[in-house]
Amino acid sequence: MAAGEVWLRELEAIGGPGDVVVRPGDLAAYGYDATPGYRGVPDAVVFVRSTEQVQEVVRLARRHRLPVIARGSGTNLSGGTVPVSGGIVVAFARMNRILEIDEANLTVTVEPGVLTAQIHQAVEERGLFYPPDPGSMAISTIGGNVAENAGGLRGLKYGVTGDYVMGLDAVLASGELVRTGGKNVKDVAGYDLTSLFVGSEGTLGIVTRVTLKLLPLPEYRRVAVATFGAVEAAARAVSRIIAARIVPATLEFLDRGTIGAVEDYAHVGLPTGVEAMLLMAQDGPQPVVDRDVERMAVLCREEGALDVQVAASPQEGDRLMAARRFALSALARRRPTTILEDATVPRSRLAEMVRAIQRAARRHEVEICTFGHAGDGNLHPTCLTDERDPAEMERVEAAFEEIFAAAVDLGGTITGEHGVGLSKRSYLGWKLGETGLGVLRAVKQALDPEGILNPGKVVPETTRRRQVVRSA
Ligand SMILES: Cc1cc2nc3c(=O)[nH]c(=O)nc-3n(C[C@H](O)[C@H](O)[C@H](O)COP(=O)(O)OP(=O)(O)OC[C@H]3O[C@@H](n4cnc5c(N)ncnc54)[C@H](O)[C@@H]3O)c2cc1C
Repeated sequence: MAAGEVWLRELEAIGGPGDVVVRPGDLAAYGYDATPGYRGVPDAVVFVRSTEQVQEVVRLARRHRLPVIARGSGTNLSGGTVPVSGGIVVAFARMNRILEIDEANLTVTVEPGVLTAQIHQAVEERGLFYPPDPGSMAISTIGGNVAENAGGLRGLKYGVTGDYVMGLDAVLASGELVRTGGKNVKDVAGYDLTSLFVGSEGTLGIVTRVTLKLLPLPEYRRVAVATFGAVEAAARAVSRIIAARIVPATLEFLDRGTIGAVEDYAHVGLPTGVEAMLLMAQDGPQPVVDRDVERMAVLCREEGALDVQVAASPQEGDRLMAARRFALSALARRRPTTILEDATVPRSRLAEMVRAIQRAARRHEVEICTFGHAGDGNLHPTCLTDERDPAEMERVEAAFEEIFAAAVDLGGTITGEHGVGLSKRSYLGWKLGETGLGVLRAVKQALDPEGILNPGKVVPETTRRRQVVRSA
């Protein structure tokens, strides 16, 4: 028996019938994720159903020195699930139970393969609220959200996934299980191990159970839309809203290209031909919501908004919010390849960042539309391109390099929510510096000395040389 077959037999003994995939045609489907341009083929995929199975798979992988790549729905945008060195993909689609909704402690405990939107639905039926709502929530899993520390459209007021993870179970590279946190609102026993695993992108441990904090469901919600003839005016309105001590549930930005694409795609009645649009929502007690929405409308008008409309009904509000969720699908129809990026700056530098994106697009002759979470300073410059054209892809890469450099120069970061994965790791040193990278490597070495957990991700081999960004 060939050495490769030994581990395969062992894997088939761990997975149930039909839970292990090895046919080359089937494996190809697990060789990519939502990030264009990255491919790899795993040696096997196993659909796990329990923590014990995950432990056995990791022990097997360790014995045979095989990479282990955790996979939720593969919607990440940083190449995080691409099996660059082959190995075993541990797929969580079948480990997807909501284990407990604890109304006394306001928590929900789930397995990693539960879809984010299913958590929303289950808790909202009981008048409870799980705020993080990534644009992909209908298909992304909570395990993937935790591993990426995913954000969402409500991040400004409610924070990101990590703000709701109270405790988790993680299988270490040794196969041992570590339990962190729990249902205690206050818990400072030792280093914050929960936070260590949140955002670790499957490189430090495999999460098999998560306890999330819940809030009471807000009783009322209103949505408003403002359009602007200049990006700067929209950015100034964002700054005025924040400075006026209003913390909206959602404050999203769409540029001219994105608005046009969404309208072509979804026909929701958005005004095309304007330079920028802000989509604003507030939730909470009705008098507070009404007051905040009216004040936001006034501030937008004072900053020169061409038009401000407050949704007449919750249904109209939902329709407008859905328009924002369509942004990526709408843009994706324009060219064969869509690269959705994730540069983030302090909110006061938003207009400068949008201008830097526009400059980079012009200089490198590529098409970039921008939308994103304006209230968080988290922008998604989205390049419409064709990965089959190597010359164009070189220009795209140069444009994004310039964009990330500009973000860091403005006091921002190379990713606000999509993670580092494969695609951003050579930029990580720009953000963390050599000392920061040293700490990161020490943590990885301590927890995964043989490097079997999602190898090739997050931890950079080299750091890119910074190009000098000229302002033209
Ligand atoms: C249309 C679209 C909209 C999006 N909108 C947003 C948005 O608004 N905000 C945002 O933050 N992101 C967004 N994303 C990115 C993506 O959806 C998120 O990163 C999401 O958290 C990934 O979840 P997933 O289940 O698909 O995880 P995957 O893509 O399968 O995995 C992501 C990472 O998590 C690791 N992982 C998965 N499960 C586990 C586990 N159980 N234990 C340990 N590691 C694990 C993987 O190894 C990988 O590194 C969007 C993506 C798309 C395509």
